[in-house]
Amino acid sequence: MSIPYGHQEITDEDVAAVAKTLKSDYLTTGPKVAEFEAALCRYVGAAHAVAVNSGTSALDIAVAALELPAGSEIITTPFSFVASANCALYNGCTPVFADIDRKTYNIDAAQIRKKITAKTKAMVYVDYAGQPCEIGELKEIADKHGLALIEDAAHALGAEYKGKRVGGFADMTCFSFHPVKHITTGEGGAVTTERGELAETLRMLRNHGIDKTPSERATYLYDMKLLGRNYRITDFQCALGISQLKRMNGNLKRREEIAELYAKELAGLPLALPYVASNARHAWHLYTVLLDKGINRDAVFDAMRKRGIGVNVHYIPPYKFSYYQKLGYGKESDYPVTEEIYSRILTLPMYHSLKDEEIRAVAAALEESIKEAKQ
Ligand SMILES: *Cc1c(COP(=O)(O)O)cnc(C)c1O
Repeated sequence: MSIPYGHQEITDEDVAAVAKTLKSDYLTTGPKVAEFEAALCRYVGAAHAVAVNSGTSALDIAVAALELPAGSEIITTPFSFVASANCALYNGCTPVFADIDRKTYNIDAAQIRKKITAKTKAMVYVDYAGQPCEIGELKEIADKHGLALIEDAAHALGAEYKGKRVGGFADMTCFSFHPVKHITTGEGGAVTTERGELAETLRMLRNHGIDKTPSERATYLYDMKLLGRNYRITDFQCALGISQLKRMNGNLKRREEIAELYAKELAGLPLALPYVASNARHAWHLYTVLLDKGINRDAVFDAMRKRGIGVNVHYIPPYKFSYYQKLGYGKESDYPVTEEIYSRILTLPMYHSLKDEEIRAVAAALEESIKEAKQ
């Protein structure tokens, strides 16, 4: 038996859509890009979407679009993938970590308030595992201190806060279409925004900072207005994204069913199930359990892997990595909640094509692995 922690689903329709686009006139910067962006806008309820070649690229140009002075501080969570903090560094800014909430594992508003200085200009918050942050409170802080808000919603396509899908709450919201996420384009990402001027800047940043794409040019002339990148996504990737997005409703419902079945199967084990806030619809990108204190998480991890279950740990806090250590980060006592959750958390397999019998097998393996780890 071998069950990964996340896996893509590619149907015959997906393959046909990609093949058709490969035989069309445009491999990149063609009509499928705009079509995918329009479909994303409709799905998340945002005014504008700019599709790019990865979620990391989306975060990079979102920060770049703010055009912040060098040395600006950007507050983010230490309990995320490195990209959430690296996007500040790419743009000459300093990521400042604020510790997380004990229940949701999302950034803690009280800790954010403590980290604000005269240099703080923005916040990158992450909807951990697919559960939206307490966005109303973050917005209040941002408004009070004049901070820009970037939502890293790589986990949260389809997630809802107070009955509305994430995508239009922050100044810019970033999505990822890596194969482990809700929908995939192979590699890919997007930024959504309500603000037209930001969308225009993001489009330029994706294409070298150039003001017009070839099809928009009347002559050979164009201008380079910003130091952009080449973060363009191909048309065949967008064809895949359009096809995948059509299945989002079923995808999310299945993830909810899986979460319910896990809750039933794991009842009675020495662990805490994920907490879901009453004002949230959790998108269940990840399903994590918090092992009781005293259980050796790494031993449980090894025992699960030995049984062919692709458990994982999300996330190693970025301040622990050697690159961040060299920059002077990493006083563990600064982030006590992150440290504790990181030491006890375990990610179980979660993807919408996971079968009921596989979930039961994961639960049974976890019970055995915990016993084994205690010996
Ligand atoms: C996956 C992920 C990213 C990066 O997305 P890529 O498409 O892999 O570049 C950024 N932030 C978080 C929280 C992620 O999970």
